[in-house]
Amino acid sequence: MRKNKNLVAIVFIVFVLAILLNGSILTKAYPVYKVIGKDKIENSIKNFKTKEGKHFIIRYTEPDSKYVDLIINTAEKHYYDIIKDLGYTPKGKSTIIVYNNPDEMNKDFSLAKGENAMGIYLNGVISIESPSLWISPGQDVTKVFQYEGPVVHEFTHLVVDDIANGNYPIWFTEGIALLEEYRQDGYEWGKDLNYNGAPYTYEQLKNDFNSLDEMLAYKRAFQVTKAISDKYGMGTIREMLRDLGSGMSIESSFYKETGLRLDVFVNNAKE
Ligand SMILES: [Zn+2]
Repeated sequence: MRKNKNLVAIVFIVFVLAILLNGSILTKAYPVYKVIGKDKIENSIKNFKTKEGKHFIIRYTEPDSKYVDLIINTAEKHYYDIIKDLGYTPKGKSTIIVYNNPDEMNKDFSLAKGENAMGIYLNGVISIESPSLWISPGQDVTKVFQYEGPVVHEFTHLVVDDIANGNYPIWFTEGIALLEEYRQDGYEWGKDLNYNGAPYTYEQLKNDFNSLDEMLAYKRAFQVTKAISDKYGMGTIREMLRDLGSGMSIESSFYKETGLRLDVFVNNAKE
């Protein structure tokens, strides 16, 4: 018994020391956790067909075979620009799963039934809804998919997650994903939306992002992230992602990179 107690005490001390010496336990454990989650997703689509591009693997079912080249070409077209912007090259090819059944996609990607997402990023894997589910027959599929489709957005989430090891607020990864859509295609999220009064505060973005009005929260996340890149450049976004990846908080990182408090910067960023 005594021996066990000592062992427990030693393990506890090592654990506390590890946290004190290095605040990045979570960021270190995250990649392992992510691999387990990825295996689980891939296991649930093991009967899907596979087509490989240079940097992407598309998993799909027969009805979507006509979209596979469009999806690969769209992803490959933006691949180098995105990894250059964010300063990071993913190891290996990135998987994009095309779902014909939104309920199945929600189940595999832990989204509640009935919720709707054109694309989801989770655990190193991208899922997208079949273009047939959201592009109407009369429209130019290639044009609409390239301009409004989810590939740039979700691939940006994948890269952000890799660099920051899971250590980032939701508003920041959404802001960067929307910023990339803007930088790649000129697509500006919520351009014609108006805030009813003042935009959301830093505290709201940080603590309540998922319960805010989705469109307006995304719009503000985009504006704020764009304001960081406009004022300090993409280099600062890249540095912040690396700081986050080493376990630093976003507030400490922003202060380290700019000498300003993040809450003050965000609450003063122009609409
Ligand atoms: Zn997103």
